[in-house]
Amino acid sequence: MKLTWEPIRLRLRAPLFTAHGELRERDGFLVRLDEGRGEATALPWFGTEDAAACARALADAAAALAKLRAPEGLEEVALPPWLDATPAARHAIELALLDGLSLRASVPLRRLLHPRAGNQVPVSALLASREPAALAREARTAGAEGFGTVKLKVAHAPLEDDLARAAVVRDAAGPDVRLRVDANGGWTEASALNALRRLARLSVELCEQPSADIASLRRLRGATPVAIAADESVPRSNGELLDAVDAVVLKPMVLGGLLPALEWARLARARGLRAIVTTSLDGTLGRLGAAQLAAALLADGPMPDAGLATARLLENDVCEDPAPPAHGRIELPETPGLGAP
Ligand SMILES: [Mg+2]
Repeated sequence: MKLTWEPIRLRLRAPLFTAHGELRERDGFLVRLDEGRGEATALPWFGTEDAAACARALADAAAALAKLRAPEGLEEVALPPWLDATPAARHAIELALLDGLSLRASVPLRRLLHPRAGNQVPVSALLASREPAALAREARTAGAEGFGTVKLKVAHAPLEDDLARAAVVRDAAGPDVRLRVDANGGWTEASALNALRRLARLSVELCEQPSADIASLRRLRGATPVAIAADESVPRSNGELLDAVDAVVLKPMVLGGLLPALEWARLARARGLRAIVTTSLDGTLGRLGAAQLAAALLADGPMPDAGLATARLLENDVCEDPAPPAHGRIELPETPGLGAP
């Protein structure tokens, strides 16, 4: 197999403020493996390698893959174990393998993962405005566009500001829209407990990663009516968080591909946890891959709205998006493979 790659830089329209800091751009690589395509958009503060390490891993993988023939079925998809150390590179190569495999089988990628996978994926809207008036407009627009879930980043400002912004969103979106908050691990356990008690009055669907470590997530679970989801903790866990939280957020780019994320989702669901598919603000190929995974998981049962409506935060993208969110959902094309134009 022949692996080639080219660098990409995705710029955000406006900085995204999170407890990790401001996110302004995403650096990565577009990957081609024979006829298949993939994307590596590394996000080091989320646990992936940086762009330089990603490029080195792609070069090493090109040499290894040159000696191998293309897999003929999903069960033959195997990658060198050393690629686990560079999840973004692994994600790109695996996605290109799955794209190529489903192109040759003339099926949409999601049907390789689940034969009954449908085309529709309900998605949440990430609200990015900081100022209350702009945030209210964004929340009203999302509700009017048909989004059933809106998500707000918290824990990067004083708690009173977070509570005020969450109240603005609840008010503007109305009582029927689910409100999800994401602290990105930015609270201490004590501040998280205080914040969640007060956020519970706004009937918050769940809080992603209220605090950083798994032991504190375990104690926060059930302490308030707000469900606890692990996100940053997922790639750092050996599975011990499955009895510590109510939900897991699965980012294929951070977990090393669609298949590791699928395995996480199956383990989580077997324990009665909810699995939520999102991206780490990836480009079109990364989002399409995650949407294909979400569609496959939905064939086995309901799932909280996926965090895939993030293209509007980007100023540029790797290619045209064939499945932009509309009415709060993504409708995937019936074309074989990943579905990229
Ligand atoms: Mg998150």
